[in-house]
Amino acid sequence: MTTERLYFTDAYATEFSGKVLSVENQRVVLDRTAFYPTSGGQQFDTGVLGGVHVVDVIDDESGIVHVLESAAPMAQGSDVSGAVGWPRRFDHMQQHTGQHLLSALFEDLCGAATVSVHFGADSCTLDVNAESLSTAAVVRVEERANAVVAENRVVAVSFEDAASAAGLRKPSDRAGELRVVSIEGIDRSACGGTHVRATGEIGAVLVRKIEKYKKLSRVEFLCGSRATRQARSDFDALGNLAATLTAGIAELPRLVATQADAVRSLESERKKLTEALATFRARESYDAAMPDADGVRRVVVQSASADELRALALAVAALPRAAFIGTCDSPPTVMFAASDDSGVDAGAVLKPLLAEHGGRGGGNAKIAQGTVPDAAAIQAVARTLRGPPTGA
Ligand SMILES: [Zn+2]
Repeated sequence: MTTERLYFTDAYATEFSGKVLSVENQRVVLDRTAFYPTSGGQQFDTGVLGGVHVVDVIDDESGIVHVLESAAPMAQGSDVSGAVGWPRRFDHMQQHTGQHLLSALFEDLCGAATVSVHFGADSCTLDVNAESLSTAAVVRVEERANAVVAENRVVAVSFEDAASAAGLRKPSDRAGELRVVSIEGIDRSACGGTHVRATGEIGAVLVRKIEKYKKLSRVEFLCGSRATRQARSDFDALGNLAATLTAGIAELPRLVATQADAVRSLESERKKLTEALATFRARESYDAAMPDADGVRRVVVQSASADELRALALAVAALPRAAFIGTCDSPPTVMFAASDDSGVDAGAVLKPLLAEHGGRGGGNAKIAQGTVPDAAAIQAVARTLRGPPTGA
């Protein structure tokens, strides 16, 4: 004996009673239930059975298994009453009926049949058979869907023989009795899920992201209170952004594009100025440094920024018989550069030194850099680089 599915004939029935067919710890099977088990992509219902919370509902060969939060207090053969949590159930009904409507309209208006459906806790998606969908086409589908909602068309369930059921959107490969869900004048689909009784109850239909997925288009959609909650959160995000820029929401696209341009041009200006400043600072430090015994002037700099070190290093290395030793604490970085006529190969000198102090990095003959584990290692590497060359 399996479980009679009350939701098949009445998706609005939430309170019911049934006889316990079997009990095993937290798992209870009844002769009838209004609880929907996870199936056909739709999530299970939650609620209360015999005073205990239902945390999962599974459709298996023994019937519909209610998984309770704690050990079931009911005995086999006893009568037990249950109540399905309505907000979650109704939300699923809205998303699921909205999906039937959108699948029908994507096929009718865009020639894109639905290949698969996913109902998620936050949003739902349809994979439709179209390599791409234009924004205009998506807007057309969304507008038509909301018009059908306003028309409040009847959504009916009927049980038909698979052999004679006509006009199904997708032929069913099942034999025997089919459960057919129809949206008046729009769609007939074989489906075992829970649906609203008229399209008005779907509420707002909002189509969001369209993504390429393999050779299909993945369409994200939200119905009912999910759609209004999302629109509210989008508005809040845009409103905060607009307030930050002391502008109206309508001005944001133009304003953000203008600001992005301005940031790019300022960044390029800043780079030029950093280089110019580095040239002056390099010259100043170079003039102040005394040549070592090998005739090379060693400029030593500590900076907060690796970018600044790099600009300085290149400027010093452009001067005659010069070497540059730069350090920066965060992240612990050492930069070493040498002019072509210094007789020093920066990369060849720095690389083994870094390895010796547990760091890594490298570079070419002119400029090299690396990171070391901590400040003490930086100082040790810098000390060696500052010292007179040993046998080089
Ligand atoms: Zn359905």
